[in-house]
Amino acid sequence: MYDGILRLDFEPGTHIVDFAADVALVVIAKELTVAEEVTNRAIIKLLSGHGCFRSYLKRFNHDESDECTWCGAGIVEDASHVLQHCPRFDVERCRLQNVMGELVTSRNLIRMMIADTDVWEAVSAFAVRVMKVLRKLEREGSAQ
Ligand SMILES: [Zn+2]
Repeated sequence: MYDGILRLDFEPGTHIVDFAADVALVVIAKELTVAEEVTNRAIIKLLSGHGCFRSYLKRFNHDESDECTWCGAGIVEDASHVLQHCPRFDVERCRLQNVMGELVTSRNLIRMMIADTDVWEAVSAFAVRVMKVLRKLEREGSAQ
């Protein structure tokens, strides 16, 4: 389980530069139930990279390759690729970006999630849809 804390009250000027493999997201709220309501497992997987991403699966020998089978050409399927670039999720990303009002990047995502509950909910919906697809592909044994 996650035992690290990524506090969301960053100092002014702090920039999220990328996703790290071993970062957990913990939402701090006065009440545990409130924290549980505003986050979900899919967001944690997306932001931490601990999901059904082929890079993560390969890391633990659950997949032979980390290549995105949608993109091919040696493109690694990790959280950053899925969130920002993979055409497999263009529809979902477009919905998210419509709410954000700008392109999603690893630099603006968390800042905008914190500032706007609509963005938070859009990221949650994106994460749920993406993880559902990736989990299905993992169960089928090939990411097609
Ligand atoms: Zn891809």
